[in-house]
Amino acid sequence: MSELLKTEAVVLNKINFGDTSKIVHFFTEEYGKLSAILKGARSPKSKIGVALDSFNIVQIVFYKKETRDIQIISQVDLIKHFHKINEDLEKMKYSSAVIELLHNLTAEYEPHKKLYKGTVRILEMINEAKYTPKFLFVKYFIFFIKEIGYEIPYENCTNCGKKLVNEKRISFNLEKGFLCETCRSVSESFFDFTKELFNFFVCLNSKINNVSYEHDDLNKIIFFLEKYLMYHVHEFKGLRSIKLY
Ligand SMILES: [Zn+2]
Repeated sequence: MSELLKTEAVVLNKINFGDTSKIVHFFTEEYGKLSAILKGARSPKSKIGVALDSFNIVQIVFYKKETRDIQIISQVDLIKHFHKINEDLEKMKYSSAVIELLHNLTAEYEPHKKLYKGTVRILEMINEAKYTPKFLFVKYFIFFIKEIGYEIPYENCTNCGKKLVNEKRISFNLEKGFLCETCRSVSESFFDFTKELFNFFVCLNSKINNVSYEHDDLNKIIFFLEKYLMYHVHEFKGLRSIKLY
């Protein structure tokens, strides 16, 4: 038995399959990540094939069978195409990093509406270009880590509970988290935060977007988040897309 289901989805990527078909990976609003095949997608007559470019927001109708890994697509309608993302290397790079996180770190058939909405929103913001793509990506990266269950608490020292906001120097241990200056000797520090960088990290966790920063600070935070995630999720080997471009 297979059921016919309908959902909105972000297209992660697609690969050719056989002579005429494509297999597409989606992050869907209703069902989480899933793979589906579109038969005949490579025919020049197929308009649907074009709708399935990465980053597009589409509505799909598919036949779902529990016993099958790859579902069968019956219909695709394009909802939104972000043409500015495809015309700009920086936008492309950080949108690809968003896709890469979803592709590698979410589970199939585990719906996550908040993550879905946050993903659509960040792609819209990268496309609009009011803020730099790198800054938007860092905000998304923090949100993503929280939504998949690895939130980084930053208000108190994880060893003694002291408020961190007044500390001159704060360190981060991959296992324990943030530590105050006194507790930093308790365990080996992985990463030292200056007061400025720590305050910036706190800002990035807020809803405020009008923040001044150095690009180097964003690079440090990306490096930090990547290493943190690699430590906690062993299958994660780091972000390829931000190194490719
Ligand atoms: Zn402490």
